[in-house]
Amino acid sequence: MSTAPQVLLAHHLKQLKLPTVLREYDKVARECARDGVDHPRYLLRLIELELIDRERRTVERRIRAARFPAVKSFDTFDFAAIPSLNKPLVLELARCEYILRRENVIALGNSGTGKTHAALALGLAACQKGFTVAFTTAAALVNQLMEARDERRLLKLQRELAAVKLLIVDELGYVPLTATGAELLFEVFSQRYERGSTIVTSNLPFEDWTQVLGSERLTGALLDRLTHHVSILTMNGDSYRLKQSAGRRRSAARAEQYPASDTIDPDTGQITTT
Ligand code: ADP
Ligand code: MG
Repeated sequence: MSTAPQVLLAHHLKQLKLPTVLREYDKVARECARDGVDHPRYLLRLIELELIDRERRTVERRIRAARFPAVKSFDTFDFAAIPSLNKPLVLELARCEYILRRENVIALGNSGTGKTHAALALGLAACQKGFTVAFTTAAALVNQLMEARDERRLLKLQRELAAVKLLIVDELGYVPLTATGAELLFEVFSQRYERGSTIVTSNLPFEDWTQVLGSERLTGALLDRLTHHVSILTMNGDSYRLKQSAGRRRSAARAEQYPASDTIDPDTGQITTT
């Protein structure tokens, strides 16, 4: 008895890595038969579905490879909450053309103002536009570099870090670095200079970076490279976290004050009596 064509077809499609064609060919065939669609158009529909799915899978793979601590986008970013931030500049950056020009972005501001959120959203946009991305914190990166150096695989790690199209280094400034740590970090920025884009976020203004990096000479050289082609996002303001929890506390207090027939809008804090 010969094998059913469906079995062989499934086998071949798996080998050719066309999972969407395999999943959809029967359903699309029935739709096309119903609508009187000819064979070339049937094939076209099927192949287009595979292409769309493949692109989605590639983006998902890039997002996993980037190691974001959370996936965040500008869809959930409230620009009104941070008036110091240049919204048109951020939206322009979200188009990722700076990555083609190998330019950098530095987000500066106090804690809780959305620097990490903005960096994550720029990282996500880059993944969606087809760029490879790596996300790390300054402290984790330095640890990784020191470990690699001790295990004699620093060169390999440095090559990997130099190869990604967008490197995001979050939270420069929370932890002071050792002299070796600062030098290793400097080398990363130096090796990426005019080869790839780097986003750095920091709670410290530039004049205080020496405190983190230890040496004035090194800080000068690092800033020189990092800020040669750069967009600076100024993100000073009230902490979004604090505002949110204060808002929740106020709503809760009002809820106790007013009878149950009043409803409180959690966003505006407005009370509607029913
Ligand atoms: P930072 O890195 O500047 O300390 P985060 O980006 O970690 O601040 O922001 C703290 C929290 O508040 C995160 O959950 C973030 O998503 C949220 N957040 C901050 N700013 C905004 C904003 N403008 N719109 C929406 N969420 C925000
Ligand atoms: Mg942060």
